[in-house]
Amino acid sequence: MTTNKTIREPAREIPVIAETDVIVAGGGVAGIAAAVAAARNGAKTLLIERYGCLGGTMSGVPMKWVGGYNPEVHGGIVRELVEAARREKGVIREFYIPTVNGSMVGIYVDALKKITLDMIETAKVQLLLHAWAVEAIMDEGGKKLRGIIIESKSGRQAVLGKMIIDATGDGDIAALAKFPYEKGRPGDGKTQPMTAYGPRMLNVDTEKLLTFLQSYKKANPKDLMECDISLPNFTFGGFSDLLAKARKNGDIYLDYNALWVNCNHESRSVEIDGSFVPNVDGTNVFDLTHAETDSIKQVSSFEGFARKYLAGFEKSCRTDRGGFSIGVRETRRIMGQYVITEEDVAGGRSFPDGICRNTTAMDVHSPDGTQSWTPARCYEIPFRCLVPRESVNLLVAGRCVSTTHRALASVRFIPPCIGTGEAAGVAAAMAAADGIPIEKLDTQLLREKLKKQGVIL
Ligand SMILES: Cc1cc2nc3c(=O)[nH]c(=O)nc-3n(C[C@H](O)[C@H](O)[C@H](O)COP(=O)(O)OP(=O)(O)OC[C@H]3O[C@@H](n4cnc5c(N)ncnc54)[C@H](O)[C@@H]3O)c2cc1C
Repeated sequence: MTTNKTIREPAREIPVIAETDVIVAGGGVAGIAAAVAAARNGAKTLLIERYGCLGGTMSGVPMKWVGGYNPEVHGGIVRELVEAARREKGVIREFYIPTVNGSMVGIYVDALKKITLDMIETAKVQLLLHAWAVEAIMDEGGKKLRGIIIESKSGRQAVLGKMIIDATGDGDIAALAKFPYEKGRPGDGKTQPMTAYGPRMLNVDTEKLLTFLQSYKKANPKDLMECDISLPNFTFGGFSDLLAKARKNGDIYLDYNALWVNCNHESRSVEIDGSFVPNVDGTNVFDLTHAETDSIKQVSSFEGFARKYLAGFEKSCRTDRGGFSIGVRETRRIMGQYVITEEDVAGGRSFPDGICRNTTAMDVHSPDGTQSWTPARCYEIPFRCLVPRESVNLLVAGRCVSTTHRALASVRFIPPCIGTGEAAGVAAAMAAADGIPIEKLDTQLLREKLKKQGVIL
């Protein structure tokens, strides 16, 4: 489908629709935190999001677990989000898992959308949905950004800002501005596979399913992982033997050795997760198309598998999960003034310019079909990971910050994405107010401000 041909786009005048202090590109959890923090710290802030709601991966996949949340480790906007979800009765369930050294806090997608909208409206962030950031507007020296060009149903428009935060997950703005980045694992550059989640089944005989799973686990102790059996909920993952059998019989379209079954006794509902698409690049439109279409085929086969190979689904029916995008775990890692490593994460390293803490393990879904968890000790992410090399007024936040491939497997969890977003927002507001390049920022003052705002350092 590709050709070697090119065409030259004619230059044209485009309207400047906003001039502001801080522009945040990307309304995932990192971008929300960045925009809220910037506005709370006095900056006129514009948040640009390509989809029709906030939340990014957390609402689009739908992926809704704040993973490894630990109130002794995560303060600030992470804690605010979890507490707001509890207050609004938006929590699906919470359970502690040792592998991430904290709780998984499940938040309903609708609740997440509303809570985050309230946060940005209360902070007086200007929001633009359905707008793609498509170009970085550079100054003449080529290192400082003047703003961003966006594309939307209203056409091509420009927004100008003193400070820009790239929270696109993929580091789109930093890449457009030609800051250096890396992608994937050393050697072959392959990134973690993509995943869409499967159906939710209702009216499942969950007692029968639990009995089946317990006896299956007894017979296949290595094949089934119990994640949470704090009734009324339970989660099991694995089933490689059953999946191999089903694959041989043409009963499942999934080239991977694990499925996850999340069950709730009270609502008699079961969610079956998820697709596995390796060897794809989330910054390549053809790969994204393949990942979406292959995932549709994969998750469509899960219901039939559950009915034939598990127990308790005889009278069940399925219902929608409401996701609208493939889940992308990893793309560009923008190379910053510091690159956080797996040794920093595993060793629980602190930094003089540490801006958030985290404890989640390095959760590597390998493109080769295995998943591994390498424990982390409570570590800090330094501010330098948010500053692309030679950047004057661009910061990055969320899963595109400066890490190694393996360290990202921990840093990509929701709490540190929010933490890096919050720090980027405060830093951008400070730099915009003082009119200074980001390298001159007083990181000790930044830490003080973050601590005052409830961030635990
Ligand atoms: C399948 C899956 C399961 C996961 N499970 C968990 C879990 O249980 N717990 C956990 O803590 N973490 C989990 N994660 C990881 C976590 O969800 C993400 O790493 C985190 O949400 C990333 O947040 P972010 O804001 O950095 O990026 P994203 O969520 O990717 O948000 C980026 C936002 O920017 C927007 N955007 C992108 N490009 C542009 C552009 N050019 N212009 C305008 N807008 C743009 C996107 O639409 C999106 O809203 C999971 C990830 C996946 C894929």
